[in-house]
Amino acid sequence: MKNINNDMKDNKAKGRKVIGCFPLYPPLELFHSLGLVPVTLWGLKDSIPTTGKSDRHLQPYACSVARHLTEFLLSENGAALDGLFMYNACDTLRNLPEIINCGLADTGRSLPIFKIHLPMAPREQTESRAYLRARIKMLINELEEAYQVTFSIEKFRQSVSLYREMRKLCKALETLVANGRMSYNEFSRIIRDGWFVPAEDQLLALQKILQDRPLSKREHVPSAVQSRIVVSGILPPPLHMIQAFENAGLTFVGNDIASQNRALFYTPAMVDDPADYYVDFYNHHYPCTTLLYTADRRVAAIRELILSTRAQGVVFIGEKFCEFEYFEIPHLEKILKDMGVPTLFLEVSIDDNDYSEAYVTRIETFAELIGSANQGGRYAE
Ligand code: SF4
Repeated sequence: MKNINNDMKDNKAKGRKVIGCFPLYPPLELFHSLGLVPVTLWGLKDSIPTTGKSDRHLQPYACSVARHLTEFLLSENGAALDGLFMYNACDTLRNLPEIINCGLADTGRSLPIFKIHLPMAPREQTESRAYLRARIKMLINELEEAYQVTFSIEKFRQSVSLYREMRKLCKALETLVANGRMSYNEFSRIIRDGWFVPAEDQLLALQKILQDRPLSKREHVPSAVQSRIVVSGILPPPLHMIQAFENAGLTFVGNDIASQNRALFYTPAMVDDPADYYVDFYNHHYPCTTLLYTADRRVAAIRELILSTRAQGVVFIGEKFCEFEYFEIPHLEKILKDMGVPTLFLEVSIDDNDYSEAYVTRIETFAELIGSANQGGRYAE
């Protein structure tokens, strides 16, 4: 299994300049076009076995994402970063740059931190395009100055094409999962590994996989696999939990995971101004609980995902202490209940990485419920 620590060593050995990014939707193409390797600091559980350093700075009731991220940054391997980028999301992340700065100062280190503020007011209520454009332009100036590079629209176009292709191939893998030709475990590992390597390497890896398992035209139409479920959450379920789902005969036909489909769904059309590109990127982003201004589009997106994949149930993977997800899940559960779609809510905490036994019975019961509903007819649409 790949590991961010090894990838960071490899990046360093090859003389790459690496910028660590969080949360999940940073302006990757922009960093890439300036000669940086953006590394999304997400899904670090498998690389970070303990959180001793982080625990000195973050409360234990912070989510595992923030604790693993902080642990990585304060560790030796985090020293391989050349900078850090973040934008605002939840309260947990809001003051993290200051906390990280204090933690780094304790170890005698410092790191340039670049920040943008993403307006979270609904776009139809508050016109924020001019503000966001200005913030993107300011970010470009700051990066040019810090790394002694010059923005080039030609390079930006190339980076956009590269990321567009990479996202397209990731979506193709999602189709393989939905059609039972790739396990969701394998898919999750491939997507997670892609966060830590240059986009070119990720693209090559995806092309190789799809050469070995080409997608036929017919496969873009949902196939007839039985016991079809949509999975929703910030992170995918831990690998052992996925195994329990697949052992119970459930197929993941729809994906509403923030680090997967929500992050990979949309690449804007190319325009001549990177600020316009990112206004489009953020305004039309797949709705996510962490992007508050997209909240009103969430129900329609989930409903569309269920109908288009003909899913028979929805599994919510609750990241413990993630307030954004926990505000929304009860609301979605009620709407799905009214639609006649069964749901299963499983909470995952920092300690649940390898242990899924406690969930197996609930997963098997859910599989049975879906199986008997299959025999009984269709759910309300
Ligand atoms: S998982 Fe939730 S609480 Fe944690 S960083 Fe992400 S949005 Fe914030």
